[in-house]
Amino acid sequence: MPPSPPQFDALVIGAGPAGAVASTLLVRAGLRTLLIDAKRFPRAKVCGGCLSARALAAIERAGLAHDVAACHGAEFDALEVSHAGKRLRAGVPRGVALSRERMDAALVGAAVRAGVTFWDHATAQVSPNSEHESRRVRIVREGHAEQISARVVLVCDGLGHPSLAALPEFRCQVSPGSRVGLGVVVDKAATEIQPSVIHMAVGKNGYVGVVRAEHDRVCLAAAVDRKALAAGSPQRVLAEILREAQVPWASVLVGSELCGTRPLTQRAIKFAGERLFVVGDSAGYVEPFTGEGMAVALESALAVAPLAIHTCDSWRPELAAQWSADVRRISAQRQGVIRSLAWFLRRPRLLRSGLALAGLSPGVVKMVTRRMNRPTAARST
Ligand SMILES: Cc1cc2nc3c(=O)[nH]c(=O)nc-3n(C[C@H](O)[C@H](O)[C@H](O)COP(=O)(O)OP(=O)(O)OC[C@H]3O[C@@H](n4cnc5c(N)ncnc54)[C@H](O)[C@@H]3O)c2cc1C
Repeated sequence: MPPSPPQFDALVIGAGPAGAVASTLLVRAGLRTLLIDAKRFPRAKVCGGCLSARALAAIERAGLAHDVAACHGAEFDALEVSHAGKRLRAGVPRGVALSRERMDAALVGAAVRAGVTFWDHATAQVSPNSEHESRRVRIVREGHAEQISARVVLVCDGLGHPSLAALPEFRCQVSPGSRVGLGVVVDKAATEIQPSVIHMAVGKNGYVGVVRAEHDRVCLAAAVDRKALAAGSPQRVLAEILREAQVPWASVLVGSELCGTRPLTQRAIKFAGERLFVVGDSAGYVEPFTGEGMAVALESALAVAPLAIHTCDSWRPELAAQWSADVRRISAQRQGVIRSLAWFLRRPRLLRSGLALAGLSPGVVKMVTRRMNRPTAARST
């Protein structure tokens, strides 16, 4: 008997910015596309919610600027870093702050309107072997398990790519000193938080950022040491960082219920396999200080779409090699800066002198933020 044809052309695992945008691009190209997410939507996600100029440029390229603008995010154009009572404020390219609950729901809504089939509250596990012109994925939805086959699978499931647990060749390497993320969106009117500014408080056990988002909600996101968390509650660790930094907005934290993440600094050792591409945070992440993550996820969605479309026509191993080069081009390019900053932020004494020096030469800060916000050059063919 001939093998039955795959149920979908493309299966996209994870409906964060990478998965939602990639699935929209694929369905627009005429592929029957299934997008699934383990969480029930709309869902919260630990994130500062700051869409950088680079992220906004990628949204525009994907033809989704209107959908994001309709969320009424709050604009920002400055960053203020506080540490031990010292403050440095610098201009940054204009961006927009939006809670992830709102933004991800809007991007998924756009995908569904474009024709994507979306299942939430559905958890995926990719099966180890590819089959005749397809890959199989086990999906558990509402307590019921089923096997779905697709000509191409995009793994966009975030830190540690849990859907690839059965494929050891794709395992992630977690950096030993990796911090973890904490976050919450606060609905109370926080007048002490100035609009248009991303406020960052830095302490010895990590850093906390806050920004006003849509309808004056406040996004709070932090990266903290795992050792500090083992010794005290998340609330206590964050309160200590805010106290050390001497910021005037510590009350934002009172009564808020924090969510956490897996270790942040990790990298997949392989980015593609037969009919399978690893995209966005699933491929690797460093730390959130520079607010790069969503820009990388969105640019990756734009870059992977043509390779996924080729795969549906006919799979060639060169497509995997091409994707590995693309991941490096999009994310690794700026990782030197992010890793250096992460190192610096762990050394309070150096940080104090650094803040003083940067205050004397704001042009340097501007140059770094401009560089971080430059869109990645297109693949050379
Ligand atoms: C503290 C913190 C602050 C941050 N602040 C910013 C910021 O201000 N600006 C910025 O640009 N970036 C920021 N980031 C980074 C940003 O959140 C990520 O880079 C971005 O969300 C990556 O998008 P993604 O689509 O790759 O993955 P995600 O957004 O993580 O989406 C992955 C999705 O996959 C789903 N999933 C997981 N496992 C499965 C499974 N087995 N089956 C089905 N679905 C699954 C999850 O439920 C999730 O919805 C921050 C990160 C942290 C931790």
